[in-house]
Amino acid sequence: MKAITNMDARKKISLVAPFYNEESNVRPFLQQVHAALAPVLGTYDIEIICVNDGSRDGTLEALRQARQHHPQVKIIDFSRNFGKEAAITAGLDFATGDAVIPIDSDLQHPPELILEMLAHWESGFEVVLARRTSRETDQALQRLTARAFYEVSRYISHIEIPADVGDYRLMDRKVVDALKALQEKCRFMKGLFAWVGFRTTVVNYQVVPRVHGKSSFNTWKLWNFALEGITSFSTLPLRVWTYLGGVVSLGAFIYAAYLIIKTLVFGVEVPGYASLMIVILLASGVQLIGIGILGEYLGRVFTEVKNRPIYIVREVIGP
Ligand code: UDP
Ligand code: MG
Repeated sequence: MKAITNMDARKKISLVAPFYNEESNVRPFLQQVHAALAPVLGTYDIEIICVNDGSRDGTLEALRQARQHHPQVKIIDFSRNFGKEAAITAGLDFATGDAVIPIDSDLQHPPELILEMLAHWESGFEVVLARRTSRETDQALQRLTARAFYEVSRYISHIEIPADVGDYRLMDRKVVDALKALQEKCRFMKGLFAWVGFRTTVVNYQVVPRVHGKSSFNTWKLWNFALEGITSFSTLPLRVWTYLGGVVSLGAFIYAAYLIIKTLVFGVEVPGYASLMIVILLASGVQLIGIGILGEYLGRVFTEVKNRPIYIVREVIGP
């Protein structure tokens, strides 16, 4: 199979698109991608890996039908909803391209950007990040918390997660292979992407509002997502209790010494209810938070130790 024809020298680009209840987006998405990639269809082989993440609507049917017009489409059908991170992981596992580009299927990631990404890739970059220049489509609270998240994670974890970049990016085969070696089950893709490193550059884009369907990320999901991000890449929340405990113990020690001396010098004095209550409440509150954080990490260790697969594929449809 090692013919030296021109065909074999062509590089292959894999698009990885997760679909969760995106029935009405399937056609427009594939049409837009097709139109955007038209100028390079002669240069590259294209495959579009569509991961159906346990959709409850007609997404799978729509994808099957779309294959008649778009033979580059390969469908990975999950046995249930495993979440976007798992869907992208599967896409990376199945992708065979020399460059892989995860892209949202809801048309919020403009496919026109791909040409720009490819140009950077050809000039030697191994990762091309797409950075959103505005967060206008987000609510004020979401913008604020996103900023807080990036600030906090910058301070407490060893890797730097670039702000305002999502999963939309181009990755060279080397990067994808490095990612595939990370077998953790709690997958915070943004962090994993940043962790592997490589020569990186950025292109900017304007995020567009969703046209069809609705976002599956509510505030609670986003909070858990942020928690995942922090606990997956920093052990500071675990270790800080040593120091906090030290400070509290030192305070307690000094206060105890003061009480003993006071009692010896001035004799027994019964009132002290207020100070006692304050110390008890404060100390037990601090302890509960500490235990909670232990729980966060222990829960994740539990998940890792069980070593379950990240996703289960019901069927692979396509070449
Ligand atoms: N998605 C998925 N599984 C999920 C949730 C979302 O595969 O459990 C996909 C979804 O189909 C879309 C992308 O992930 O292509 C981004 O999801 P969404 O638009 O809901 O998130 P947002 O853009 O609001 O962050
Ligand atoms: Mg979206």
